[in-house]
Amino acid sequence: MVQKIIIGLLATALIAVCSIWGYSVWSQKQAAAALVAAAKPVAAAIKPIEAVKPPEAAATEVAAVVPEEKADGTHFTYQYVVPRSGQLLPTYEMAREIDLLRHLPEVNQLDGWLTLPRPINFIAAECGTVNAFYAKDKGDVVLCYEMIDLLVRQGAAFVQANGGATRDQLDYLLANLRFLMLHETGHALIDMLDLPSTGREEDAVDQLATTLMLSLVSADESSSDIAQKLQLAATFFIATDDGQHDMATYADEHSVGAQRYFNLQCMIYGNNPGKYLRIVTTGRLPEARALRCEEESKQITRSWMRLIEPNIAPKHRLTAEEERAKIEQIQRKQVESTQAPYMR
Ligand SMILES: [Zn+2]
Repeated sequence: MVQKIIIGLLATALIAVCSIWGYSVWSQKQAAAALVAAAKPVAAAIKPIEAVKPPEAAATEVAAVVPEEKADGTHFTYQYVVPRSGQLLPTYEMAREIDLLRHLPEVNQLDGWLTLPRPINFIAAECGTVNAFYAKDKGDVVLCYEMIDLLVRQGAAFVQANGGATRDQLDYLLANLRFLMLHETGHALIDMLDLPSTGREEDAVDQLATTLMLSLVSADESSSDIAQKLQLAATFFIATDDGQHDMATYADEHSVGAQRYFNLQCMIYGNNPGKYLRIVTTGRLPEARALRCEEESKQITRSWMRLIEPNIAPKHRLTAEEERAKIEQIQRKQVESTQAPYMR
């Protein structure tokens, strides 16, 4: 019952947050989709007229009105599977009601941005275990309801330990879901695009998740907001590492939780050492590791961007000038939103 109340509270708060958070990107896409939908009957109506006109004249007229459409990327699919266990029903209902999978900002930005051999299917389902994974045979990225439940419970414990509010518990849940789903999306991209990975794939996709969160900054969140969300994702790794490691843990394909924690801290700090110096001064990252983090962070970002870049769909490729203009536009909006504190 307590779990149900917590999930109900989070659902209410999340609906409010989703209307601000990531919404502008989503609404832009909706607006673009509406434009395309509106354009289709118009295009269909043009055809009979073209048929009675001399072909060259019709071609010239159509070309002047409708610019050539560049190919869009591969769009994802989203699904919420009804759980068999009654205990997971509230989680399922919350996830479906707020359309959780479509409200993960980076997944939302990747949807249709890349050209993939097939869609990635994002599925929320009961798994019988706490997990999230990529199923290679079907191209599915599965988020288990059990994992959402664990994050809800951890978020509650985190808030209790740090004296926070429901909003902080929600932040914990969302930040971790963003990181987790990007990690699994990374496995999907490596598989579908046959991307090279000479290190351990588990570390590589942690790095991709961090790179994408730090790089795909929108007008809704500043880079500091993102760094704060990544801190919450790092907290998950520490919270799930009890330090009791046996040989099986060391042999595992994943690095141990504490290593993943420090790797993440290194990426955040290295992204902007001047800005995030507190990560070192508060002891979250030892100085000895911090010394190399700027170079490490740059190298990882550069490598991932180089692997991703050739797969950006023609429609979303920007010229250097367009990219500069877009960054300036985002920065302007960020300044505007910090000047209007009542918006948050
Ligand atoms: Zn993994």
